Amino acid sequence: MQFWKKLTQEQRLHRIQQALQENVNFSKDASLGYPASKLDGRVFYDDAPFLKDAPTLQTYVANPNNIGCHTFGTSEKAFCGTQEIEREVLDVIAIDIFKAKENEYDGYIAPGGTEANIQALWVFRNYFFNTYNAKLNEIAILASEDTHYSIPKGSNLLQVDWLKVPVDFNTREIQKEQLGTIVETAIKNGKRYFMAVANMATTMFGSVDNPDVYTDVLEKYNVPYKLHIDGAYGGFVYPFSNKESKINFSNPKISSITIDAHKMLQAPYGTGVFICRKGLIENVLTKEAEYVEGMDLTLCGSRSGANAVAVWMILFTYGAYGWFEKISVLQMRTQFLCDELDKLNIEYFREPFMNLVTIHAENIPHEIAEKYDLVPQQHNEHNKWYKIVLMDHVEIDHLTTFIDDLKLAINE
Ligand SMILES: *Cc1c(COP(=O)(O)O)cnc(C)c1O
Repeated sequence: MQFWKKLTQEQRLHRIQQALQENVNFSKDASLGYPASKLDGRVFYDDAPFLKDAPTLQTYVANPNNIGCHTFGTSEKAFCGTQEIEREVLDVIAIDIFKAKENEYDGYIAPGGTEANIQALWVFRNYFFNTYNAKLNEIAILASEDTHYSIPKGSNLLQVDWLKVPVDFNTREIQKEQLGTIVETAIKNGKRYFMAVANMATTMFGSVDNPDVYTDVLEKYNVPYKLHIDGAYGGFVYPFSNKESKINFSNPKISSITIDAHKMLQAPYGTGVFICRKGLIENVLTKEAEYVEGMDLTLCGSRSGANAVAVWMILFTYGAYGWFEKISVLQMRTQFLCDELDKLNIEYFREPFMNLVTIHAENIPHEIAEKYDLVPQQHNEHNKWYKIVLMDHVEIDHLTTFIDDLKLAINE
């Protein structure tokens, strides 16, 4: 770990206050040109005593705008302090967790995993336009039927066809032969460029796709392709629970990764992370964004510097080992639940390195699913699965009550 350290509360406070001092200070400086200010002082007091020890809240009140991309070219000078905090967050995620090389990636903290995924598809689509003179209808997205709905959303927005790859009902593994057939048929029908999205944990099952399945098939047909990893769900879990994981930038075939801090890292909403290799993001440069210094390489435009600070605070409170310990506890609870389900002969899917258990719906009475807020795969009578996510607040006590209820229901 080159960048990821554990800092004391005092060190964290000091670092964030230093960053805020490097930003324009709307309470003191004569800053005339921006349509921006600190939060409305009548509503959000900047002199509330508790703010003194609360660096994230201080940043919310100061309200910096981290608009643009700060790993590439120049950026707005007014917010250089919180832009640097964002780069420190990205260094931890891109380099320490996902094995990119220093200064060899670009990225930003997006409003969420949805935008980060769409950003990836947008970059790839334009890369095919710019590099191969590709036409829209020659490009296709490949992703499994378990992929997150942000992929069909992106397909619709960008007008690039999504080819849905089937998975096995029980193992949730991508069906390689069927993928081969899909690619072969697509090529016959005029597709020439492919962007594959492999999941580092699907939302419903926690299944982790083997990215080689996509690249093997695409290389067999010798077509230009790009590969994105959707780690929105598992990005802060899988690399810690599976130390042998190769799903990172050490694999030269992986071009970009999405990681949500507002899921497993428990950061505030608005903290999806997009990271890609250098040489790609300029495909979505919006030259018309002339009033933004350095112009804009992101989808969203204005975004809060306080989100970068919130993620930074979590990372530097735990440090790498602290985070590993937290994930280990979640893994232990997941195993506890699986052992109890085994005793009851109840079938479920669990990826061994994830904190998610998806149970065959026929084993779960409706009242129990309601009582414990289990999430169904489909909100209708065709539902076949319910999932339990072992989050921080889901403790063994809750699991034992759930199991006891389930036992009662089964015996009735
Ligand atoms: C949640 C999720 C997303 C989208 O994230 P938002 O932050 O809700 O936009 C994308 N992919 C996967 C796998 C997810 O679980």
